[in-house]
Amino acid sequence: MSTEGTPARYNYAPGPAQLPPEVVAKAAEAVRSFPPHGRSILELSHRSTDFGAIAEQAEADLRALLALPDDYVVLFLNGGARVHYTLWVQNLSTPGDRIGLVDSGFWSQQAIKEARKLREIRVLPDSPDPADYPDLAPADADGLAFLHYVSNETLTGLAMPAPQAACPLVCDRTSDFLSRPFDIRPYALCYAGSQKNFGTAGLTVLVARRDCLREETGLAPGLSYAAQARTGCLYHTPPIYAWHVSALMLRWIREQGGLEEMERRARTRASLVYDCIDASSLYANAIVPRARSRMNVCFTLADSGLEAAFLQQAETAGLIGLRGHKVTGGMRASLYNAMPVTGAEALVEFMRDFERKA
Ligand SMILES: *Cc1c(COP(=O)(O)O)cnc(C)c1O
Repeated sequence: MSTEGTPARYNYAPGPAQLPPEVVAKAAEAVRSFPPHGRSILELSHRSTDFGAIAEQAEADLRALLALPDDYVVLFLNGGARVHYTLWVQNLSTPGDRIGLVDSGFWSQQAIKEARKLREIRVLPDSPDPADYPDLAPADADGLAFLHYVSNETLTGLAMPAPQAACPLVCDRTSDFLSRPFDIRPYALCYAGSQKNFGTAGLTVLVARRDCLREETGLAPGLSYAAQARTGCLYHTPPIYAWHVSALMLRWIREQGGLEEMERRARTRASLVYDCIDASSLYANAIVPRARSRMNVCFTLADSGLEAAFLQQAETAGLIGLRGHKVTGGMRASLYNAMPVTGAEALVEFMRDFERKA
């Protein structure tokens, strides 16, 4: 049976990820006609008051969601989260600083690779466990100017709590940003690409403590956090459409009940799928329970020869994007903010059904 032309019911892709249908509808309408002129938002000037209103609302909603203190700035920058593996080092630390980076898996290793080119670094812990996050002692950060970590390792589905450290933290929150409340105080900087939990590709949001942004970096103004902050992130023409989609998502998250509600839904979705895995003899998850991600649930099939049939039948059932990353193999269900609980229920129903027939 061909499913061509039939929209999939749920998209479990790791990002760009599923968006709420009402947000997609508003984003589509804005492409067709954006008030007050009724021309497309794709033509909207970044200097216009209409765009100013979008940017203002997005920032206000983000500040409200995070209960952000006044000494933190919000930056909406173009490009991917990955660019900031280099930029955070250059914008926050000085060449003489020693910086620490926690290794919890693939993305933290990418951050380590870039930081190593620029500064003297310390990698924590000495021998990481790929199934469990490290218990760092506050003393591990002694002598460090900053400590970088990744709050959710998207490939393996490993979630790491904030390390205890005397120095300010820097965090790549790309795959769990706005999925639960957290205290911003220990952080010099949190950054996240919008395409997973709060928008589409093309935008990265940074929340930074103002006094941590260095002025004398030697960087081009477009790459300097301090310079971008001064221009309201309008040094160059920003990705207006991606910014608008994020503004719609930030408003949607607030209307749904904010980060407490996002966390409640995330817990419900993830427990449904982990419970199914734990009760099964076909599926397995390698991560120790305390480190299990609520955003990316990874699993393997006891008989890897069944993987192709699993993916094919899932697609036929309207469940797409379940193939794991090429580095890890296996399956991965990404359950970000916009995934309804019914999406987790539909997946579990399919998994049980597949196991019965296998
Ligand atoms: C997806 C992802 C990235 C890469 O994001 P880009 O916007 O593609 O650069 C970085 N870090 C984490 C944790 C991710 O999940």
